[in-house]
Amino acid sequence: MEDCIFCKIIAGDIPSSRVYEDEDVYAFDDIEPQAPVHTLVVPKMHVATLNDIDDNSLWNSMLKGIREVARIKGIVESGYRVVVNCGEQGGQIVMHLHVHVLGGKRLDDKMG
Ligand code: 5GP
Ligand code: ZN
Repeated sequence: MEDCIFCKIIAGDIPSSRVYEDEDVYAFDDIEPQAPVHTLVVPKMHVATLNDIDDNSLWNSMLKGIREVARIKGIVESGYRVVVNCGEQGGQIVMHLHVHVLGGKRLDDKMG
């Protein structure tokens, strides 16, 4: 999609630090990490928000991407947090669905 920063990253028009990629998803490190591990998993297809997933297989692919990122980053055993911000009050800034995978330290207890 034109003017979508994550579509540009997927296309390689904006550089990113790639962590994992398959047919359906792309994962790259967040530019402003909130934890030692902070990787974003995004669908290659432009989907704006969690509300816009109408194919459950896409969510399965996202889940696989999340688990691959945790494996690659070595945080499967220590544990990690998965966050999806959805819409304005959910704090979503980039309108291309993305899952934050956070870990590498003891994360805050606060969720909101
Ligand atoms: P949101 O608040 O929409 O859930 O999170 C968007 C995330 O995208 C933020 O954590 C922000 O740091 C990250 N981000 C925004 N622009 C870029 C970029 O150009 N490159 C990378 N790697 N991350 C970005
Ligand atoms: Zn997009």
